[in-house]
Amino acid sequence: MKTLFAGMILLLAGFFGINPTKLEPADIVFKNGNIYTANARHPNAEAVAVKGDRILFVGSNKDAQKYVGSKTRVVDLQGNTMLPGMTDAHYHFIGVGQREMNLNLEGITNLEDFLTKVKARVDQAKPGEWVTGRGWIETFWKPPVFPTRWDLDKISPNNPVFLGRADGHGAVANSAALKIGGVTKDTKDPFGGQILRDKQTGEPTGMLLDNAQSFVRSHIPASTEGDTETAMILANKRSIELGWTQVQDPGGSYRDVDLYKKLYGAGKLKLRIYKAVYGPGPEAQRLLNEGPIVGAFDHRFNLRTIKVVSDGALGSRGAALLEPYSDMPDSKGFLRVKEEDLLPMLEEALRKGIQVETHAIGDYANRFVLDEYEKALKAVPASERKIREPRWRDEHTQIVNPADIPRFAKLGIIPSMQPSHAIGDLHFAPSRLGIERLAGAYAWASFIKSGVIVPGGSDAPVERGEPMIEFYAAVARKDMKGFSGEGWHPEEAVTREQALKMFTIWPAYAAFEEELRGSIEVGKLADFTVLSADIMKIPEMEILKTHCVMTVIGGEIVYEAK
Ligand SMILES: [Zn+2]
Repeated sequence: MKTLFAGMILLLAGFFGINPTKLEPADIVFKNGNIYTANARHPNAEAVAVKGDRILFVGSNKDAQKYVGSKTRVVDLQGNTMLPGMTDAHYHFIGVGQREMNLNLEGITNLEDFLTKVKARVDQAKPGEWVTGRGWIETFWKPPVFPTRWDLDKISPNNPVFLGRADGHGAVANSAALKIGGVTKDTKDPFGGQILRDKQTGEPTGMLLDNAQSFVRSHIPASTEGDTETAMILANKRSIELGWTQVQDPGGSYRDVDLYKKLYGAGKLKLRIYKAVYGPGPEAQRLLNEGPIVGAFDHRFNLRTIKVVSDGALGSRGAALLEPYSDMPDSKGFLRVKEEDLLPMLEEALRKGIQVETHAIGDYANRFVLDEYEKALKAVPASERKIREPRWRDEHTQIVNPADIPRFAKLGIIPSMQPSHAIGDLHFAPSRLGIERLAGAYAWASFIKSGVIVPGGSDAPVERGEPMIEFYAAVARKDMKGFSGEGWHPEEAVTREQALKMFTIWPAYAAFEEELRGSIEVGKLADFTVLSADIMKIPEMEILKTHCVMTVIGGEIVYEAK
């Protein structure tokens, strides 16, 4: 009878995957934590035990003690807040590293300071050498006007200069650079791009939007492989210090993929990266032909997504709108992809189980993407798809006609959105769009209410790319000084619980990884972000003062604040 009873216990224990007589010792036990698990069944805990790269136990300090063996490392979290490893669902990883290396024009507030900073770089350049940089954003300048070639000619009459706006959807070139690019009064606007011109003379002002940037950009010497590697290593360091454990890198090429593989192979990248390549075109075709890469380098690297760009950005008025810009009545922006190129690729992607994510800012672009996705989903029914629920994404989902919001849930399309865009853009969006069109702009809460998930991202280096700025923006919907103006729609802010999901379990779902990561649950990858304060409870403004004290990826402490 006794042995039968013991046998039953063992059987039950086997069933639940635990061994009550002798617990497997953990490699690390984190205790005394204020832990938010993002798992609805057990939302809070004090301790976590980790074996290898997986979570072995989640619960109380007392029960965690049972997993402490002679070789177990015990980490006292000292009451700090632990979250599931935070994920940025839209983060241009290499661009973040390049920002650290190049002329960084962020934070400038007027044309004079802009020119002073650029001049310092021009003065160091060799004759004929290109001067390039990125990060300026004139909407914060007084007055908020684009710089011109003539401004730049004053500080660089000889060296070609090409400086990208923070959003990457516009750049200013000086006359030397325009000359090399062959841009003159007679150059026609390319498809999906615009050469801004002087209203009186028709001369190009130096401002090139979206695809028009290529006239000049194609002449800038490409960065070397060594430079890109350096950028990746800098981006890895910066990202894990901020508490990111995975970033989803929207767009790029197989050249990037090869470098990622090389650096993962050499153990130089710790961060998890969910990568895409651009399409339609040869990069996307290669992914369709060769198939995805899933779970490589201990689940650190995935490539299973094609990134499409359907329009420009709101700041530079390249976003494609249904009605003209309120502050430029002769323009509705423009699309950057044609249906005849896009639709066949979408259908092939469904047949081959490749995810698609499309940049869409304007209300026309968002409707276009929904229409194209819907056509492809109809043309290739679930029975003909390699993955029945393809989890296609709409990146940014910024300005959406309210009538289109319910279509996302209906079609199973994921709106992947960036809280910091709202708190920056809403300073100028009312003039671009008028107050009325802001219903449906950055509408996080309406989307969640409509029954979809909203993975959160930063779009770094367009924005800073910091988890605390994103979390604050999502819950406060005020700028970094606490300001909120007319048309900001405070009701579109999300709850802290929703914000937690936006940067943990929802991006995991958007990457087909919700069984693997995104919450603190037994069996999942041991990815954690430990913070200096309880961002689920402290006053809003204090979220911005909170910092990462520890980052854990796959059970390894990859960053610890000194
Ligand atoms: Zn982006």
